[in-house]
Amino acid sequence: MKILLADDEPIARTLLEHWLTGWGYQVTVARDGEAAWNALKSDSELRLAIVDWVMPKMDGTDVCRALRKGSQEPYVYVVLLTARDRKDDIVRGLDAGADDYLVKPCNPLELEVRLRAGRRVIELQEQLVRAREALRFEAMHDALTGLLNRRALLSLLDNERSRANRTGNALSVIMGDLDRFKNINDSHGHATGDAVLREAAKRMKSSVRAYDSVGRIGGEEFMLILPDCPSRIGMIIAERLRELLSATPIDTPAGPVPVTTSLGVASSEQANHPASDELIRAADSALYRAKHAGRNRALLANASDWEAGRAAAIPAGAPSVV
Ligand code: GH3
Ligand code: MG
Ligand code: MG
Repeated sequence: MKILLADDEPIARTLLEHWLTGWGYQVTVARDGEAAWNALKSDSELRLAIVDWVMPKMDGTDVCRALRKGSQEPYVYVVLLTARDRKDDIVRGLDAGADDYLVKPCNPLELEVRLRAGRRVIELQEQLVRAREALRFEAMHDALTGLLNRRALLSLLDNERSRANRTGNALSVIMGDLDRFKNINDSHGHATGDAVLREAAKRMKSSVRAYDSVGRIGGEEFMLILPDCPSRIGMIIAERLRELLSATPIDTPAGPVPVTTSLGVASSEQANHPASDELIRAADSALYRAKHAGRNRALLANASDWEAGRAAAIPAGAPSVV
């Protein structure tokens, strides 16, 4: 494990470095507070630091304060070394953000044990961060396909729509729905249906740009959010998706299963700053038309789709605009 050792006294520094190396630490040495702060800023693997209080340029408490003022992730555990052993000095050191302190000259056994305590704190913090990240990922992703889930898509669409309004760039939404998917489940079983959904998701993800978002909105319905994308390009992408999904049957444990998809596309440039749900409804209405027109096709929202979207967006009980 890496450790920062900051001390301006050569003798103390050499001795401490010798101990630390002996205990298996990879030591980064700093000769003053500024060098210590620079090292901590530039190397995120430095999670443990032994910092002398009295040093030129920045003292140990300055280093602690600078550290705690910034992001606490990853957390750096600081042991302050001090020749000062008065209670109020110790309180000041801890108050500046040190986690622990040792009075010089320090005893190697005590230092080793305190560093071990620091490592426990760091490990606990890492576990918490990992658990939090896993929860955050789960809250935003669909477990079956690994794509964004409905909630994440809707929040992303709101953000992209605000950005599109600001920049004036067009934003397109594609709604896709696998055709006759119920038949796949009925003929081959639910597990095969799941395998088809997973592969369909993979194909969709592979056919869009890095800054496009693909998600599963429910069942066998998918939504794509395409920033900086006018309707003409939206249609090209939808057509590409349709083609890619139907080009080769999906390999499943039950054998190859052919699939086709119907898609609806709506683009913000088609309307006057449409709200997120208007975009979704217009794309949905175009998708519905694609189903009725015989499936396995992509259609761009037309005036009646936008009208249908707006009508559906009027809350119940609102005065009708006739
Ligand atoms: P259409 O072409 O009109 O879209 O017909 P469809 O059969 O695809 O549409 P429908 O909405 O009638 O059926 C969707 C089916 O998707 C019904 C449901 O059982 C199935 N389904 C929904 N979620 C899952 C899932 O997570 N896994 C599997 N295997 N099937 C699912
Ligand atoms: Mg379907
Ligand atoms: Mg459906």
